[in-house]
Amino acid sequence: MRKSLLLAALVVCPVYAQPAGWVDAFPPHKIMDNVYYVGTKELATFLITTPQGHILMNSNYEAGVPVIKAGVEQLGFKFSDVKILIAGHAHPDHVEADAMVKEMTGAQVIVGRLEVERTKEFKPKGKEHPIDRVVEDGEKVTFGGVTLTAHVMPGHTRGCLAWSMDMTEGGKTYKGFIECSLNGQFMASLDQYPGIADDFRATYKKARTMPVEVFLSSHASFYGLPAKYEKLKARKPGDPNPFIDPQGYLAHVDEFEKSFEAALARPPAQGKGKAKQ
Ligand SMILES: [Zn+2]
Repeated sequence: MRKSLLLAALVVCPVYAQPAGWVDAFPPHKIMDNVYYVGTKELATFLITTPQGHILMNSNYEAGVPVIKAGVEQLGFKFSDVKILIAGHAHPDHVEADAMVKEMTGAQVIVGRLEVERTKEFKPKGKEHPIDRVVEDGEKVTFGGVTLTAHVMPGHTRGCLAWSMDMTEGGKTYKGFIECSLNGQFMASLDQYPGIADDFRATYKKARTMPVEVFLSSHASFYGLPAKYEKLKARKPGDPNPFIDPQGYLAHVDEFEKSFEAALARPPAQGKGKAKQ
């Protein structure tokens, strides 16, 4: 298997399987003033702290929750102070543990309108999937002085939801962007729906119009976390924050658009699926 294919196989969102290593621990760390990474080695979960309690983005698989909780505590915060749980998109590697996290924290669960039906299908151990608030494209979630804006960027799922927010460091404000997923390189493994290919193409266009300085995503590998974390550890006063990466973001959009088009061009047996329906 070529290296690029191996990498692609590692980063595609599975619909049901839990790939080995995806819930392994990764060092929790500060991204900007009140934005932290508390996810696993591959599945990104972000903690946004406020004086009124915290916002958590992406609950991960249930098996990943102990890693997330330990990360929150290691950073000096209480998991029970999580008041809002925001979903990125309706795949189990990002939302399976919504019920578990709600049980542990009492958090309000916020889901994009187009993702509601699919999200409700994830019922680990028979638990009903909690949904407390549904948001539309462009809707804002404001809590504790933080405002997040939802952006529907469909393709990977029908209502894949990216989130933008102002992030601050050293008295400066940056445009933060937590991408949903642009991953369409293994079309057959995705939830197919009519118009999916058109949605992907429109989403790659829209992705290039987003003002992005701090580039984050639902998967650590999408935004090159391992290398950026090494830079963060070696960072000295005056060094740039490695998560400020507008060029890396645009390169990522290009790369994923190319891999999507390549997937569409392959014969069905190799992953084209029903993408043109
Ligand atoms: Zn996914």
